[in-house]
Amino acid sequence: MTSQTNNTIIVYSTTWCPDCKRAKQFLGEQRIPYINIDIEQDPEAMAYVEKVNKGSRSIPTIIFPDGDILVEPSNAQLAEKVGLKTEAKRNFYVNHAVKEFKGNGRLQAIVVEDRATGELKEWQYDGVFVFIGLTPNSQLAQSVAETNQWGFVVTDKALMSSAPGLFAAGDVREGSTKQAAAAAGEGVTAVLMMREYLKEVG
Ligand SMILES: Cc1cc2nc3c(=O)[nH]c(=O)nc-3n(C[C@H](O)[C@H](O)[C@H](O)COP(=O)(O)OP(=O)(O)OC[C@H]3O[C@@H](n4cnc5c(N)ncnc54)[C@H](O)[C@@H]3O)c2cc1C
Repeated sequence: MTSQTNNTIIVYSTTWCPDCKRAKQFLGEQRIPYINIDIEQDPEAMAYVEKVNKGSRSIPTIIFPDGDILVEPSNAQLAEKVGLKTEAKRNFYVNHAVKEFKGNGRLQAIVVEDRATGELKEWQYDGVFVFIGLTPNSQLAQSVAETNQWGFVVTDKALMSSAPGLFAAGDVREGSTKQAAAAAGEGVTAVLMMREYLKEVG
């Protein structure tokens, strides 16, 4: 097990960890040599990662020749560390409205309107990500419970709002992670907390 660097970056990873794959792909694409150590195949490496991360198996843990350590770094952090300049490879268009999705079974192009000129443009894409914003539908709660400046329902640790017996879970809750799995988990938690509340109030 190599626990300290000579002149090479060392990536402590596993075969399945998505962040490890991303970091290694980034280093590979930038032609930056590194040594990969699969901590699941190397107990000493596992122990080393735990030591570096105060008992946690946080990966990728990446050791640089100067002794610096980055744990679960973003590509931007990696780029900064190895002295690369990062630039967006795509153009960003503002004041354009999507008017049409074109394709035959699969997306082939989108038609957008330049709102400033009215000009219609067709761009060839095979995928889109729809971002619809995060305005919470919390009107139901707003008159009875505390909501924050954006309308998200404020809850305590038990997911109860400021109105006793009114619980909030998922995207509508202040501080929620806006992820499907988390929302489902919060729903379950809220139900369990409701049961406790009902026991208390009798
Ligand atoms: C485009 C997009 C992509 C996403 N991708 C991912 C992803 O890849 N992974 C991931 O984990 N998460 C993703 N999310 C987030 C995920 O969808 C949400 O975190 C999750 O759906 C939140 O669940 P929820 O039950 O809190 O809210 P919602 O799913 O929004 O459900 C709330 C429901 O309440 C209903 N409702 C609202 N007001 C009322 C009312 N007054 N009376 C009755 N019913 C009402 C709504 O119609 C809705 O059905 C994505 C979201 C979007 C928009």
